[in-house]
This record gives sequence, structure tokens and C-alpha cells, in this order.
Amino acid sequence: MHGQSPAYRSFGPCRYWPSIVASVLTELSGPEQACLELAWQALLAGTIPVGAVVADTDGAVIGSGRNAVYAQAEPPLISGSLLAHAEINALLGLPVARSYPDCRLVTSLEPCQMCTGALRMATVGALTYLGADPVNGTSWILESARYVGHRPVEVTGPRAGETGRLASGLAAAYHLRHRPDGNYVAAYRRVCPDLLAVGTALIDAGMFELAAEGQPWSVAAPALLAAAQRAA
Ligand SMILES: [Zn+2]
Repeated sequence: MHGQSPAYRSFGPCRYWPSIVASVLTELSGPEQACLELAWQALLAGTIPVGAVVADTDGAVIGSGRNAVYAQAEPPLISGSLLAHAEINALLGLPVARSYPDCRLVTSLEPCQMCTGALRMATVGALTYLGADPVNGTSWILESARYVGHRPVEVTGPRAGETGRLASGLAAAYHLRHRPDGNYVAAYRRVCPDLLAVGTALIDAGMFELAAEGQPWSVAAPALLAAAQRAA
């Protein structure tokens, strides 16, 4: 189902697939792989490494986006705004001519309250996230009957093991590097120090050096996945 799937072939920006990444993240679907690739592209652009796609019933990617809060991005992505989250950017391009109850938002990190709200307003019927975000993640509000009403949203995540830790750790590492005394790191230290430790492990494994060199995800992924594995 990986590599040669229609889901991947429909996804233009994922330039480095499948090569080495396929051999180390084999359990992930095409859309899940694409999220991590997009997260890495966000880091290369200088912003928080989170990526997201919208996949249809067949797993084909019909929308994709990455975080662009601290970087510029080409339209139709929004960028240079505190609202320029990966999930918003993945949802923005969905045409209004139809609804999307049979589609799934797939994201590398548990979405925040804004993005879970956007998912619901975009009529997308399911959410999959790879990494937990015990501080800002609010996927649980989709389980609220009052919020969801007559249109339940199926939620899957986080991914267990080193893959989930890698997805969470990418964002944790970014905040550790750029805002070590900020509220995000303080909250992580209090709520989930284990994920902060994964972020430290990714930094120690050369995450920012790989990004500064402009290395593709296919090169960065094996080293970072191994670091996330060691950080268990
Ligand atoms: Zn968000």
C-alpha cells in the first residue's frame, strides 16, 4: 500500500518519496508519510515542523499543508500568521461544492482547538494524528456530543512507539531550540517531560544541522527515527 499507491502519486510536493524513508517508516500509510515529509519541509522553511493532508476514501490526497507561522509559503497556503497551522492549510483548499464526511484529516501532531474546529467546519469525517500533544492537542473535543452533534468525527491517534514519539518530538525540539524559556516548553516540562526528552534526543541526533544543510526527509528520517527509538 506504500510507495506505489494512488495516494502517493496524487501528492505533488512530496519530492523525496520513497527511497530511504519507506524502509524506516513502513507501517505508515501514504498520507501519514506525507505528513512527516511536510513537517520536515516546514522545518526547512524555518517554522514549526507540523504537516497535514486531507485524504479521500481511497487514501488519495486531496489537500495538503504545512505549518507556516514563522515562514512564508506560496499561496494558497496562508503564512506569516499565528493561524497558519498545517491543518488549516490542508483544509483551506477544499472546494465548497461538496462536503467531506468520507474524508480524513491526517496530521503529524495532535491538532489544537482551532484546527479541530476547522476540521469540523470543513465537514471532514475523520481525524488521524501521529504524535500526541498533551499540552495544546484538543482532539478530545471531537468526542463531545454537544460539539459534534449529529455528525460524529472518528478519531485515531496517537501512533504508538518511536513513530509517534518522532512526530511529537519534531515540534518539541523546535520549541526547545527557539523558545527554551517559553510557555510551550514550560508546559511540556510539567505535563509530558518524556516528549521533551524526545525533542532533546532529536536535537542531539543533529536535527537542526540536517535542516541547515537542506537535507531531504529521506536522509533525515532514519537518524531521527533511531533517536526517537533510543529515547523510549
Ligand atoms: Zn492548530
